[in-house]
Amino acid sequence: MKTAFLGLGLMGYPMAGHLAKVFPTTVWNRSLEKAERHNQEFGSSLANTIAQTAGADILFTCFPTSKEVLAIAPQILEHAKPGLIWVDCTSGDPASARTLSNMLEAKSMHFLDAPVSGGVKGAISGQLTTMIGGTETALNAARPALETFASKIVHVGGAGAGMAVKAANQALLGVNILALTEVLLGLEKQGVSSRAALDVINASSGRSNVSQNLFPERVLGRAFPNTFALALMTKDVRIAAQSLREQGIPAPIVGLTENLLEIALRQLGDVDHVAAAQMLETWSGQELGNE
Ligand code: NDP
Repeated sequence: MKTAFLGLGLMGYPMAGHLAKVFPTTVWNRSLEKAERHNQEFGSSLANTIAQTAGADILFTCFPTSKEVLAIAPQILEHAKPGLIWVDCTSGDPASARTLSNMLEAKSMHFLDAPVSGGVKGAISGQLTTMIGGTETALNAARPALETFASKIVHVGGAGAGMAVKAANQALLGVNILALTEVLLGLEKQGVSSRAALDVINASSGRSNVSQNLFPERVLGRAFPNTFALALMTKDVRIAAQSLREQGIPAPIVGLTENLLEIALRQLGDVDHVAAAQMLETWSGQELGNE
């Protein structure tokens, strides 16, 4: 089985590395040097053009948004053969996934939306979770390739369902970051140490991945490593809020989170997602972790 991977960013680079250790894998990246580095590190084959990746049986993409995925579709559709399975690991939007699925089915090709969670750490260790939208047949054919970088594979529905679940998860991530920042700022004002408060919260019903794994090092330790851009999380929450509006679901919390993240993005620019906490710190005139 021949595979291809397009988009060797923070996530795609290690994911394609796992793939290349098991299957013959051709890689393409907009800036060629990452693909050259991948070729040297993992023995993947280098593609200079998108067309050169289209001979694969299973083709993966991992771009920032569905816009970049849709942009390469004409080149893939022109050069790929019937039977191709295109697995899009971008955290994209459900409508674009359905459009791509229809475009491919018309040419006897198959599309799976397969966004991932688990962060850069999970991508490097090959322990990602992936949520799949598409047909069971296509998923079963792609499963051995997915298993090279994902330890949990969940089929959540038809085309677009994977993107919808991913956006919902990201909305919860955004809500948690902002809400935890607010309550910790209030506690510090009352003289309570955030570390002591987290010690309690992480053994209690208010805990989350944000309180357990992100805040201790990144916010209280003031580390803010760049692992997942604020721009990407804001995009995800925008997709979630938009979907809720389209379904006619009143969604004041996700809507407010979307608005707050849009403001944070304008104020803070190209920073890690957890740095959204800094906007609320600025508004309250205090910094967490300095007790
Ligand atoms: P990065 O910004 O690190 O990588 C983006 C990749 O897309 C790079 O290969 C980049 O190429 C390429 N790219 C950007 N714009 C274009 C374009 N116009 N045409 C072609 N290629 C382009 O992003 P991540 O790897 O962090 O994220 C990728 C996806 O995975 C996103 O949808 C994100 O939301 C999702 N995700 C990210 C996680 C994380 O922790 N980082 C966790 C889970 C999901 P170049 O190298 O040339 O810039």
